Amino acid sequence: MEPFIYNHQYNFIKQQAFQLQKNYLQVKDESVISAVKANAEEKILAQFEGLTNQQRQMLGLIIDLKQEQDFHNYLHSLSSYILSFPSVSEDTLRKLFKKNKKLNLPDLEEIDFSKLTYLGWNDISLQKKFIVYEQNGEWIGIEGKYTPVQHKNICFFCQKQTKVSFVSAVTNATSTSDPNYYKSLGHYICSDSQECNENITHLAALENFMEKVKEPTV
Ligand SMILES: [Zn+2]
Repeated sequence: MEPFIYNHQYNFIKQQAFQLQKNYLQVKDESVISAVKANAEEKILAQFEGLTNQQRQMLGLIIDLKQEQDFHNYLHSLSSYILSFPSVSEDTLRKLFKKNKKLNLPDLEEIDFSKLTYLGWNDISLQKKFIVYEQNGEWIGIEGKYTPVQHKNICFFCQKQTKVSFVSAVTNATSTSDPNYYKSLGHYICSDSQECNENITHLAALENFMEKVKEPTV
């Protein structure tokens, strides 16, 4: 079977599995457990479109899990079907941020691309956060002003409470009456992009941000 699970979908399954495992330890009533399992299965299947029977069956194994080891094995077997973030070269990254003459790139060798929804890194000296995302075969690179001060808050992308920094970027919104018009958009985003990638379960917020900030392609 070919890979069919995106990183954010895998994170969603992982969260459902952990939640279920927690319920297992706390709830002794079998009928309650069955209902919770069916609910988890339904939620997981709803994250996908056009599943084959085999894929559906594989995801549905969640209803048979009991022991800690079962949950571990389930997640481990699904991890073989994760669709990796497309490989991206340093050249592509430099092209995406060509206005930055002093661009510091992350060490691409060190990154586990199978666990990425987006590639993000901070440049403390420039006080910028860089975000790279692939959509419909096209690379999008966004840079935002980054406040290095971290505090706990809800991250806009992954919706989890983590150590966040405020990131603001200039949007592509234009005004016909004022050529100097610009609008900036800011959000709290996980300071640690790797952590965000381990938590993110939905693409809507990320894609919405990218859509508003990316430079219009001509
Ligand atoms: Zn996050």
